[in-house]
Amino acid sequence: NILMAAFAPSVPGWPAAVHPLATGGSAGRRRASVAVVASRASAGRLRMNAAEGGAGAPPVTVSRSGVEVHHFSPAVEALENEGAYAMMARAADIAKSPGPPVVHLEIGQPSYPTPPHITAAAIAALSAGATKYSPPAGIPALRAAIAAHVSSTRGVDVHPEQVVVGPGAKPGLLLALLALVRAPGDVVIIPDPGFPSYAAAVSLAGGVPIRVPVGPAGYDIPALRRAARGEAGRCVAIIVNSPGNPTGCVLGRAACESVAAVAIEADAFVLSDEIYSGLVYEGQPGEAPYTSMLSLPGMAARTVLVDGFSKTFAMTGWRLGYAVCPPYLADRMSLLLVHAVGCTATFVQHAGVAALVGLANGEDAALQGMRADYRRRRDAVVTGLNAIEGVSAAVPGGAFYVWADVSAFSEWGYTAAELASMLLEEGRVAVLPGTDFGPGGEGYLRLSYVGEDDEVLEGVARIKTVLDRLRSAG
Ligand code: PMP
Repeated sequence: NILMAAFAPSVPGWPAAVHPLATGGSAGRRRASVAVVASRASAGRLRMNAAEGGAGAPPVTVSRSGVEVHHFSPAVEALENEGAYAMMARAADIAKSPGPPVVHLEIGQPSYPTPPHITAAAIAALSAGATKYSPPAGIPALRAAIAAHVSSTRGVDVHPEQVVVGPGAKPGLLLALLALVRAPGDVVIIPDPGFPSYAAAVSLAGGVPIRVPVGPAGYDIPALRRAARGEAGRCVAIIVNSPGNPTGCVLGRAACESVAAVAIEADAFVLSDEIYSGLVYEGQPGEAPYTSMLSLPGMAARTVLVDGFSKTFAMTGWRLGYAVCPPYLADRMSLLLVHAVGCTATFVQHAGVAALVGLANGEDAALQGMRADYRRRRDAVVTGLNAIEGVSAAVPGGAFYVWADVSAFSEWGYTAAELASMLLEEGRVAVLPGTDFGPGGEGYLRLSYVGEDDEVLEGVARIKTVLDRLRSAG
């Protein structure tokens, strides 16, 4: 598995737990202040603060006199892996033991190949010599195609100078936060449950992530208002994610308007992560299927819309995404790109043009096929889950996740994390505990339905077997 190999913690000949500063090894690798640390370490007077030799040993060491030695910045030391990667690694381990193949419902990426006209455009661009640096914010043709795409899908007037292309949506989020967090302690509100990279990106940018509960109707607005009023610090941004990961919920217009009102009152930006906007199956009853924060009155001046090609076009590994924001912010993000990545792979950008121009010209049979498959699987998974006693799942309007309420099992003392472990170990089905997405995810499991129909249904059947056994065992 390519992904697993990329995230394998150990490197041959380089024990993962042995930090050069903690051992005093790699002389000359670091100098000056850290040399003190190295020499102390080499004198054997440091102990690791977690099991020594484990691949995940943290980079903090504690001297015998009790002084903590930090080898990285606090935000970097606090980083944790995304739950999906950790679960994939555990599933790979379980797969080595005797038994049927593990069913994967933990992975958040389309299983489809990228549509061939997009791949062909990348190959043609490579052959034509698109192998050099591009302007940092993207080739003009792609910025123009994105501006046209966002204008037509969100019903607003977007200009190419508002568009910043990056290697995925993730960099767009991080770079926007690096620009928007102005002072240490500035608050950025993030959804709970929500995508794990939000908290990490806010902290890396020097801000303080404050989690505010979200439900099927969006943010808990009184809680959002309290957090945005700045008791914990000045609120500089609110992150909105619709359709949402992990819940699949699509926000209605009223929910979006409430967030906009709070942002305007707090004079904060909204970071609108719309990476799943191409995977909306149905909206709130009586409404347009999808409302973008960017389209609301007064919001263009304070919204950073983040979207990309990973989900809609089955292009996760290509690394192509973008941000749309006011031009003065786009200029700053472009400078951040200069220093962080230089630019996004030029031939990949040409593929992005083909994807958007193809879509505009009605070349969307492959996309419609994927959406129809997802929708069918979504309905089957929701029906299957609701047939399990003690489980309930609402029909999500978008993305490719089902958020299953398993809180009934807390009566027998099971947390979401314990249920996920038992499902993997006993049922050989990998799902994510809701708590991977914040404390608000306790009592929930996230299932991703990107696999084939029979695989997804087999996964639900195995969940039923394990949970039925747990319930009857009391
Ligand atoms: N936002 C959310 C909510 C996501 O789920 C993901 C992918 N898992 C991303 C952003 C990242 O997308 P990209 O591949 O474009 O970086």
